Amino acid sequence: MPELFIGGQWTAALDGRVREIRSPADGTLVGTVDDAGPKDASAAAEAARDAFDRGPWPRLPAAERGRLLLRVADLLRRDKAELARAESMDTGKRLVESEYDLDDVAACFRWFGDLAATDGADRVVDTGRPEIDSMVVHEPVGVCVLITPWNYPLLQTSWKVAPALAAGDTFVLKPSELTPHSAIGLMRLLAEAGLPAGTANLVLGTGATVGAPLTTDERVDMVSFTGGVPTGRWIMAAAAPTVKKLALELGGKNPNVVFADAEFDSAVDHALTAVFLHSGQVCSAGARLLVQEKLHDAFVDEVVHRARRIRLGGPFDEHARAGPLISADHREKVAMYVAAGLDEGAVLRCGGTPPADPTLEDGYYYLPTVLDDCTPDMSVVQEESFGPVLTVERFRDEDEALALANDTVYGLAAAVWTQDAARAHRMASRLRAGTVWVNDFHPYVPQAEWGGMKQSGTGRELGRTGLAEYQETKHIWRNTAPSPQRWFE
Ligand code: NDP
Repeated sequence: MPELFIGGQWTAALDGRVREIRSPADGTLVGTVDDAGPKDASAAAEAARDAFDRGPWPRLPAAERGRLLLRVADLLRRDKAELARAESMDTGKRLVESEYDLDDVAACFRWFGDLAATDGADRVVDTGRPEIDSMVVHEPVGVCVLITPWNYPLLQTSWKVAPALAAGDTFVLKPSELTPHSAIGLMRLLAEAGLPAGTANLVLGTGATVGAPLTTDERVDMVSFTGGVPTGRWIMAAAAPTVKKLALELGGKNPNVVFADAEFDSAVDHALTAVFLHSGQVCSAGARLLVQEKLHDAFVDEVVHRARRIRLGGPFDEHARAGPLISADHREKVAMYVAAGLDEGAVLRCGGTPPADPTLEDGYYYLPTVLDDCTPDMSVVQEESFGPVLTVERFRDEDEALALANDTVYGLAAAVWTQDAARAHRMASRLRAGTVWVNDFHPYVPQAEWGGMKQSGTGRELGRTGLAEYQETKHIWRNTAPSPQRWFE
C-alpha cells in the first residue's frame, strides 16, 4: 500500500521514488516508503486548501471536532503496541520509551478533544452602545504545514495535529525523512475515525524537496515547525514573502542548576535522566550542569560513576537504558562537539567515544559523556550537540548561577535544585526559559504550555495557547440600527 496520503487517498510518489528506512540500532531495513517530491507536496497543499475552503471540517461545531479527536485517542490506545514498535524501529529508542510516548500522544489528543468542546474563548464586547453586537470570535487559521523531527516523531506530531484539528484547520504533515512510520499509522487512524478527505494530508520526503516548497506555497497559511535553529531561521525567512503565521520550536541548551543544599540523591539521579534520556536527543535535555562550587566534586564524581554504568542497547534489549543516536551523521556531529570541548580545555570524565562492545558496532551508539571544567565560551556549552554529552560548570552564588544559566541564545527549559523555597522562587522567576522545573526535570502535562524564549522559538504548544496558535481572532461588529453618519456633508 502506498504511503503518501493526499486528499483522502493513499498514493505513491508521482515520480515513483522510494526511500529505505533503516534502524539506527543495527542498520536493518525497517521498510521502504514512498518519497515525495515538490509535485506531491503541491498536490497535498491543493487538497488541504480545497478541504479548508469547501470541506466540512472547518465548519463543524467545535464539539464535534473534539469528539473525533477523542475517538482518535481511543484508537491510539487500541494500536499502542504496533505504533510504539514502529516508533522504536525508526528511532532506535527503547520500546518502553515509545510506549510512554504513545500514552502521551493519546493524552494530547484527549486534551485538545476536550478543549475543542469546552473552549469558550469567544466573547461579547460591551461597546456601550445597545444597538451594536460586538463579538470577538476564534476561527481556524486555514491550511497548516506541520514539519516534525525524528527524536519524538509521533509525540511532536500530536502536539501539532491535535490542536490544528481541534481549531478546524486542514493540514499537510511532513515528518522527518528518517522516521515516517508512526505518521503513516496516525493517518490511518485519522481516516478510520472519520476525518473528512483532504483535512489531513501526509507527504514523506526531505526538507529540501518537500518542506521547503510547502513553506513558500501561497496556499499555505501557517507553518508549525519543530527542529533545529538553522532550519527554523530558514523557514522564518522563507515564510516572509507570503507572511505566514509561524510556530517554531527550536530546541535548547538547557541549564540544570544544582545548589549545595539540594537533596543529593534526587539531584544526581535527575541530572542523569536530564541529559542521557534518549541519548540526549531531547530538545529540553539538561545538557548544561551548573553545580555550586562546594558540592562540585562529590556531585560530579557520583554523576560520572553512574553515567559509566548506563547500559546501551537496541529498542528490544530489556536491560538497555539508552539507545543509539539517529544517524551516522548525527553521531559525527556529537563527536565533533566533544572534540571541540576538549580542544578548548574541558576535562573528559567519561565517555567521549562510541562503545567498544562489538554487538553494538552496527548501530550509531555513543557513550554517555561528561565534560568537566567547562566554561561558557565553549561551543559544546553554547550549541546543541543533541547527544549524550553533559558539560559541567561551577558557580559560587545565586547571581553567578543565574548569569551562567541565562548566558545562552536559547530559552526552552531550565531546572533548579535547592531546598530553599525562597531561592527556588527567585531563580524560577529570573530564569529566561519557557519551562522551569524546581527539584525535578523533564515532566510536562498537555494542560500546560510548552515552548521557548529567545532563539528557542516562537509560539507555544500544548495548554490553551497551543490551541490559540492554530486560530485566528476576528472581531465582528454588527450595527442593528444603522443610520447615516453624514461625515462628508
Ligand atoms: P532539522 O531542523 O533539519 O529537521 C527538522 C525537520 O525539518 C525535518 O522534518 C526536516 O526534514 C525538516 N526540514 C529540513 N530542512 C527544511 C527546509 N528547508 N524547509 C522545511 N523543512 C525542512 O533537524 P535535523 O534533523 O537536521 O537536526 C539538526 C539539529 O536540530 C539537531 O542536531 C538538533 O540540534 C536540532 N533538533 C532539534 C529538535 C527539537 O526538538 N527542537 C528536534 C530535532 C533536531 P528532513 O530531515 O526529513 O530532511
